Amino acid sequence: MRNNAFHIAAMPGEGIGPEVVEAAVSVLGAVEARHGLKFDFEYVSGGAHQYKETGVAMTEDGFKVADVADAILFGAMGWPEIRRPDGTEPAPQLDLRFRLGLYAGLRPARAIPGVPLPLKSPRAKDIDLVLVRESIEGLFASRNKGVLENDTVARDTMVITRDVTERLSRFCFSLAGRRAALRQRRGTVTIIDKSNVFVSLAFMRKVFFEVSKNYPEIDARQHSVDATALDLIRHPWDFDVMVTENMFGDILSDLTAGLVGGMGFAPSGDIGDEHALFQPCHGTAPDIAGQGIANPTATILSAALMLDWLGVRHGSQACVEAAAEIEAAVDSAFGSGAVRSTDIGGKDGTGAVARAVIERLQPSRRV
Ligand code: ATP
Repeated sequence: MRNNAFHIAAMPGEGIGPEVVEAAVSVLGAVEARHGLKFDFEYVSGGAHQYKETGVAMTEDGFKVADVADAILFGAMGWPEIRRPDGTEPAPQLDLRFRLGLYAGLRPARAIPGVPLPLKSPRAKDIDLVLVRESIEGLFASRNKGVLENDTVARDTMVITRDVTERLSRFCFSLAGRRAALRQRRGTVTIIDKSNVFVSLAFMRKVFFEVSKNYPEIDARQHSVDATALDLIRHPWDFDVMVTENMFGDILSDLTAGLVGGMGFAPSGDIGDEHALFQPCHGTAPDIAGQGIANPTATILSAALMLDWLGVRHGSQACVEAAAEIEAAVDSAFGSGAVRSTDIGGKDGTGAVARAVIERLQPSRRV
């Protein structure tokens, strides 16, 4: 980063990935001049089709671009019929998480005005939570290492370390502090676990509460994962920041996406100490790929998360303001009824949603 100029590794991938990334890049292009920012995109190919053709889902050169970039904007990679010999998916997005140490999987779920919500309570419009999924250990530490013994017993091992849990917990308390300041209320971080059963998760909980002592202004709570699944349906508006083990987070983040309108509205960031990758929570959606009807909102909101992260990291107020402006423009585009994407029963395709957001970019009062 130099003078608000950022080098972004763009990884559109396959399926609807390239379509939604193109839409997000157009929105980023629209905020550049408004805020004196400059994004220099370096495109990197990868995905299941590349694996099928070449045997490698992402080249080492591709990983190097990710390593030196200021941030990574990712679309989607993976294809149902393309599998490795052991039956697993070639998944560069998972490789990037492990290689770059992206331990904090940020999965915000916020009710966007005008987007239909499955919960009929009037409180549903107040849903504004962030699930932070630990992303480099937990049960996924066993990725590529599981064992099958004599076709009779299979084992995958859960790993929780003090180092990652401490860093993850600090990340969550800082995030809760920032959200509390913006919303002018007290912040809460809830650890979601099964600490009554598993040693690994009891340890994660213990370390989380140790770290919480350094953040007396934030409430630290614990909730069991099974009770959380129920409470996310009964009163999701009561959650603020939630932190959980990798596999639990994988599952619960689809649930939280469903609470705010589905995968087309669910952004994400995979964040480490030095690197970060931003992508929609959805996959390649082969059933609608190439038709121009994918909802790009999740990717546009992921681009906003990217700007916010870059802004905080590099002390760029312009970036932070641009991020808030994009979020407000999304709210205005859907809230005014000007746009209705196909996944919520509308007729507006990928380009129409992006254009509606761009038309509504204006200085935001939410910064
Ligand atoms: P993955 O396993 O890679 O996460 P998945 O099997 O969960 O993928 P997705 O690709 O996330 O599947 O999408 C599931 C379905 O949701 C798609 O088939 C598509 O119909 C719909 N969908 C997902 N993303 C979008 C989007 N951005 N716009 C419209 N519909 C979408």
